[in-house]
Amino acid sequence: MKVMKFGGTSVGSAEQIKEVAHLVTSRGKNIVVLSAMSGTTNTLVEISDYLYKKNIDGAKETINSLEKKYFITIDKLFTDEKYKEEVLAEVKACFNYIRSFTKDLFTLFEEKEILAQGELMSTAMMNIYLRSLGFKSAMLPALDYVRTDKNSEPDTQYIKQKLQALLDKYADADIYITQGYICRNAYGEIDNLQRGGSDYSASLIGAAINAEEIEIWTDIDGMHNNDPRFVDNTKAVDTLHFEEAAELAYFGAKILHPTCILPAKLNNIPVRLLNTMKPDAKGTLIYNSTASRKIKAVAAKDNIIAIKIKSGRMLLAYGFLRKVFEIFETYKTPIDMIATSEVGVSVSIDNEKNLDNILDDLKKFGTVTVDKDMVIICVVGDLEWQNCGFESAALDALKDIPVRMISYGGSNYNISFLVKKEDKVKALNLLSDNLFNK
Ligand code: ASP
Ligand code: MG
Repeated sequence: MKVMKFGGTSVGSAEQIKEVAHLVTSRGKNIVVLSAMSGTTNTLVEISDYLYKKNIDGAKETINSLEKKYFITIDKLFTDEKYKEEVLAEVKACFNYIRSFTKDLFTLFEEKEILAQGELMSTAMMNIYLRSLGFKSAMLPALDYVRTDKNSEPDTQYIKQKLQALLDKYADADIYITQGYICRNAYGEIDNLQRGGSDYSASLIGAAINAEEIEIWTDIDGMHNNDPRFVDNTKAVDTLHFEEAAELAYFGAKILHPTCILPAKLNNIPVRLLNTMKPDAKGTLIYNSTASRKIKAVAAKDNIIAIKIKSGRMLLAYGFLRKVFEIFETYKTPIDMIATSEVGVSVSIDNEKNLDNILDDLKKFGTVTVDKDMVIICVVGDLEWQNCGFESAALDALKDIPVRMISYGGSNYNISFLVKKEDKVKALNLLSDNLFNK
């Protein structure tokens, strides 16, 4: 059995829902994981924002206009009155539930209940639509089997057992539909796996059933070798190692959520990135082997802050780095890149939230300087240190760009460069010209 996950744009209109229905029913008995229709989760966040601000009129207006969009979609999707009534009843119930929060106290807990409605509606629509076409479609309610533990980590044993019980219960189904993104927490409350989390759902589900493959269907034909928003003539990469895909997803490639790789990697399940608009394109296969001696792709991560701590006392000292890192740990701020020298260390972070506190504490250990508005340019491929020439090719491409930090050797798959925001597009283009288009 495969897991096939479709993102928001893939189910973003009546026409798209029909396309996906056609696609999934021609590929056998699989588990289909859906996101909310595109734009819905953002609108639900907006509604919650009005409710936090006690702007009830703003919330109601936004709810009404979203509801109207759903009514129009349902109208286009269903011809048979019986099924139309059934889906309308479900969707109306979701909107009335959202409306019920305009009367009372509004907290994070209520917000999560609102955010869950997007995936509940898209899956209800798909499930009933498939039944209207004559398929035995069974709903696997994510809120009944996807659960996180007290550390907000997925409870994989629970997911496995509960999901298997549901699959057994609907053993004679032609196809299974389930929600991405949403789950319950350790206390049984409605929660989610963070924005973009339906890729993670797909991977967790794939791991739970030991799927033959996890397919992530989006609106682009795989992971591209550079960012198509800034570079012309980018191409889909055929294969990536799990580690390469993890680096790219973390350092900016938007097509795949970074959390998605780990469950697939641990269970050795191939992940394939495919395009709903071009279902026959071969996409990108992510697995535990890959073409060697090749640089595969470049990605960029924005809004990076570089911090340098220089200390005369670092000379021959041990324990200095520990003290520095402890400060970041105290403020729960992950470090992306590091570079060290005899007299100082530079690190980069992607989150300004605790910057002032961090800088205050760091000043106890040395002279601190900060560069904001930086970008990490991450070059990914077979970069094992014994291979010659790959690092120099990447460096050579950037010879006319000021580089603030370089990180290489942390893994066999990546070199990262930290550059100024203004130089990002130029750097991405120079890397494509020199690494892929020569
Ligand atoms: N609907 C959720 C979001 O927009 C989850 C997802 O699509 O992955 O973030
Ligand atoms: Mg996504």
